[in-house]
Amino acid sequence: MLRVAHRFWRSPSLMPIRSFCFDRPLVLLQSDDWGRAGVRDREGFEQLRSAGIDLGQRPYDFYTLETADDVAAVADLLKRHRDSAGRSACLEMNFVLANVDFQECVADDFRRIHLRPLSDGLPGRWSRPGLFESYAAGMHDGHFYPALHGSTHFCKRVAECVLAQQDDRAQLLRTLWKAETAYIYWRMPWIGYEYWNPEARRNERFLSLRCQDQVINEAVTLFKTLFRTSPLSACAPGYRANDDTHRAWARNGIRVAQNGPGIAPPRIDRHGILQVTRTIDFEPATNSCFSLEHCFRAAEECFSRGIPAVISMHAVNFHSSLKDFRSRTLRLLNGFLSVLEKKYPDLLYVHDADLWQIVNTGTYENSQGALRVGVKQQGYGNRGSAIGWGA
Ligand SMILES: [Zn+2]
Repeated sequence: MLRVAHRFWRSPSLMPIRSFCFDRPLVLLQSDDWGRAGVRDREGFEQLRSAGIDLGQRPYDFYTLETADDVAAVADLLKRHRDSAGRSACLEMNFVLANVDFQECVADDFRRIHLRPLSDGLPGRWSRPGLFESYAAGMHDGHFYPALHGSTHFCKRVAECVLAQQDDRAQLLRTLWKAETAYIYWRMPWIGYEYWNPEARRNERFLSLRCQDQVINEAVTLFKTLFRTSPLSACAPGYRANDDTHRAWARNGIRVAQNGPGIAPPRIDRHGILQVTRTIDFEPATNSCFSLEHCFRAAEECFSRGIPAVISMHAVNFHSSLKDFRSRTLRLLNGFLSVLEKKYPDLLYVHDADLWQIVNTGTYENSQGALRVGVKQQGYGNRGSAIGWGA
């Protein structure tokens, strides 16, 4: 386990300055890819099949986009789960804030990538009646907390270069965009992630600090337009973030960074960002070996170390329009949270903004007022000397 934590800390900004443990079981639910349009439901699926793409081989071939009903069903489940302070469970939704404006791109013969911000609705023939109202209702009721994923999930620079060619990759991307699907990652991992080009030379894979700063600034602006608030927490697409990403996030007001799976306590890095590692993969739609038992054991291990249970679940688990992933996920999540609540009667559901408050003040606000949580700090410059419980 320590080896896993070490791997995350190879990046200088992930070398922690202080890490934190807590005197109560904290549970966070972090979820990526909200707002990112995939295969355009049955019509788009059939269009791609007619174009010769053999869809249906892996779960992400059925990744579409959440519907208003999907979102409402998640909120409904979270509402029924209360922590020891009477607060409902809260899903942190990491949003992709723009989709490809497919029709503009086709009209422009793919010379340039046009994006359509989520705040302007969905592109082309995509239709999701009531979706934005459904997000807003869940946020208003405290069941959802919005955070930043990116402005695009894929590396825009890679897509631009590919579209400028006339080869198989360009052909695949054009076929997908004509069917209003941006990409299907497992079929084309060369598309990369927002800050990361997989085929560049090893030390040039991440965009430069200047480029990252610019795309992050644009994404934050899109976020503010959509939610009328600034994002406090971010998760890099594909978890591909480096020291420059953290520096740019810090400049743009991000205080909490979400990291891929492992076991490690939340820790402050040299940019003053609270680095949070996801400790439980809860992905029944995509993990054929998914086991509730395994998730329980992971939660137990977290709580025994005073580490929050940070549950990772991607939006695909809640989709239903092409394939019903949602019913099983909700059933499993319901069972999981019920057992945790029973077994840990002092459990608290929090999100990243609460965690940020807790590590800074030892309290956070909920509907009952300020709630105290004991925090133990450990300084890494002075390994082994715990600073002790504060509140
Ligand atoms: Zn993602």
